[in-house]
Amino acid sequence: MSKKSLDLAKKDLEHIWHPCTQMKDYEKLPLIPIKKGKGVYLYDYNGNKYIDSISSWWVNIFGHSNKYINKKLKNQVDSLEHVILTCFTHKPIVKLSKRLVEITPKGLEKVFYADNGSSAVEVALKMSYQYHKNRGETRPYFLSLQNGYHGETIGALSVSDVGLYKDTFKHILLKTLQAPVPKNQSENAAKEAALKLEVVLKEYSHEISGFILEPLLQCAGGMHMYAPLYLKLARKLCSKYRVHLIADEIASGFGRTGTMFGVNQANITPDFMTLSKGLTGGYLPLSCTLTTNAIYDTFYGDYNEQKAFLHSHSFTGNPLCCSVANATLDIFEKDDIINKNRKKSAYISKKLKIFKELKNVENTRELGMVSAIDIKGYKPEERVGLKVFDYALKYGVFLRPLGNVVYFMPPYIITYKEIDKMMDVAYEAIKSLQ
Ligand SMILES: *Cc1c(COP(=O)(O)O)cnc(C)c1O
Repeated sequence: MSKKSLDLAKKDLEHIWHPCTQMKDYEKLPLIPIKKGKGVYLYDYNGNKYIDSISSWWVNIFGHSNKYINKKLKNQVDSLEHVILTCFTHKPIVKLSKRLVEITPKGLEKVFYADNGSSAVEVALKMSYQYHKNRGETRPYFLSLQNGYHGETIGALSVSDVGLYKDTFKHILLKTLQAPVPKNQSENAAKEAALKLEVVLKEYSHEISGFILEPLLQCAGGMHMYAPLYLKLARKLCSKYRVHLIADEIASGFGRTGTMFGVNQANITPDFMTLSKGLTGGYLPLSCTLTTNAIYDTFYGDYNEQKAFLHSHSFTGNPLCCSVANATLDIFEKDDIINKNRKKSAYISKKLKIFKELKNVENTRELGMVSAIDIKGYKPEERVGLKVFDYALKYGVFLRPLGNVVYFMPPYIITYKEIDKMMDVAYEAIKSLQ
């Protein structure tokens, strides 16, 4: 350990309260100060580099310190760093909004901006609720999927269903109902879950504003995956029972599931769609909620009708964030990313099969640029995820398992050689548990 590294880690703990962490863990598992990032690699102060195989919490899709994005960001900072978005507008946001409408499903025409994923979810929930209110109906419930995750602010947490984050706060949350998620990627599981969804809607639809789900992939819920058919059936049921369908594409969006958005695989248009994470290539905090003209129109009227959506964030539509989002979309276009990823995910898929040979592997699954391995035979207290993390780090790979689920969600610029290294180290890490 270099002196610089030890010194930074020590000073950090004097004042910084880290996210999603029991801080006492740092007594045994020291913090790693990161000096720089380049491509898929993170570099520490001790001469080590690590493959960022989870894209720094699923955000970084084109690598760290990407040359093209850097250039666009530097250009923007010299002309306009920020401006309030009421009364004013600016070129990067006008350009970005048109492009987002073009690449998202037909029918989504309006874009509302915030600065993180949870806030985009809050916006969708509030808009959905107010849409009904503007039409003279009070619908106090939201429906969501079991095992879902939509962020950790109070509203977003209310529609989430990951006990670890939610149980502590259960007495102060919004009113929600949960419908079963399809139990695997088969079409039968999708049909079964849709039947149960209809049971809930039949009974409660007049009290439910919207139904929120993560299309195809529940990331925080252990990389759980389900078939596009469920989205098709859910779309039909939501229309039938006049409940909004809210597609939270914060993690599944921007190519992660193999198509630009998860909902593309079901060919549906949700009533709301939330985006963040990959939106800025993982550079800057930006999020948005897209919706239809029909919903937008119910908020439109004279000021005194009190129909407007009175919601704002200080950094709404920040020009630096928008310029970086435009750069991210440029890369998708000019480098034909979605098609190139297909070959990479086929390669990852082939290598993933080898994990099934390990006795402590229960199951593997994959979807586009995400793959996951369930480890079996350990109790939660054994914290095998932590052991895998620790092992892999020593060999230059940063993995951050979710409980007993080891997964790969690398930046799309990862090379085949780097895929080999990432997966071979994970294999050895899981084997070392035996
Ligand atoms: C990460 C995530 C969020 C929350 O985004 P934050 O920027 O962390 O607030 C919401 N929904 C999904 C599906 C996510 O993966």
